[in-house]
Amino acid sequence: MTLMSNYNIFLKKGNCSYCNNTGVIQRKYSGENLCPECFQKNIEKIIYKTISKYNMLKPKERIIVALSGGKDSIALLHNLKIIQDRTHNSKPIIALIIDEGIKEYREKCVKKAKQFCNKNNIESKVISFKDKIGKTLDEIINIKKKTPDYKYACNYCATIRRRLLNDGAKELGGTVLAMGHNLTDFAETYLMNILYKRLDIIANQYISKEENSNINQFYIKKISPLLRIPEEEIFLYANIKKLDYYPSHCPYREKDPIIRKRVLDFIQDCKKYSPEIEFNLLNGFLELSKTLYYHREKIDYNLCQRCGYPCGNGKICTYCSYFQEFSQ
Ligand code: SF4
Ligand SMILES: [Zn+2]
Ligand SMILES: [Zn+2]
Repeated sequence: MTLMSNYNIFLKKGNCSYCNNTGVIQRKYSGENLCPECFQKNIEKIIYKTISKYNMLKPKERIIVALSGGKDSIALLHNLKIIQDRTHNSKPIIALIIDEGIKEYREKCVKKAKQFCNKNNIESKVISFKDKIGKTLDEIINIKKKTPDYKYACNYCATIRRRLLNDGAKELGGTVLAMGHNLTDFAETYLMNILYKRLDIIANQYISKEENSNINQFYIKKISPLLRIPEEEIFLYANIKKLDYYPSHCPYREKDPIIRKRVLDFIQDCKKYSPEIEFNLLNGFLELSKTLYYHREKIDYNLCQRCGYPCGNGKICTYCSYFQEFSQ
């Protein structure tokens, strides 16, 4: 199936709400009908307005984009490159690609990500689990799945990747790390954190944190300019723009019976009856994270004896405990 026919199946009969074109994408949550041309312009406007509303970027920022090669991060990089090229005195964007070492899947993603950067004249850097921690994610899972304390792949993957992205972005001189998380990701993560009563995590995810707070000295500022765009709209946008991304999902997401996948299915099911549900979850997250950030009693944390990062009550952080276990 070609990219074009991929999105044509979404076009419905009807007139565009903004021009005379017919053949439209229907936005159930807003009642708008958008022809492909108006749709793509509207997505770009939402990205631009999100950046401006939440003061995500300053004029001379060094933006590092976390690039996976999938539709979200490619669409994000495409837009940030345009914005940055137009900004006077801006520093060129650098794409940071993390190679977890997931056979077949990540090799192809990394290839797409590099191709996109080369074609668009964007500097890129690849950091791999193998180089930094001594093992690929596949090797880690092969070792751990035989042990009683095995956790699902995403637990290892997310902890290690988060650290490599943060350290890598800082090493590249970044002042901000742009992530391709979309509205659907935010809704899903928020609901997960509610289900597990992870109030500290929700507080830490407040998107307008004070820049000079103690904890911020360790972590580069993260921004998510796609936070108001549902996943399926990024998919349509990437296809309309003919962005060359890797279209498949991580095999571990299907293999592991992770609750996250069930939460996502639940949200998708709710959307059939209440199309605005993801926006409600996002708005709930924005309000609650702000309240918790300012009013929750700050909990003391130790600094990891190996790397110096905050690590809760223990002596060593989770990343370093994995490092010690797997780098032998
Ligand atoms: S789905 Fe899980 S294992 Fe796969 S890349 Fe994402 S966090 Fe890693
Ligand atoms: Zn139109
Ligand atoms: Zn540590």
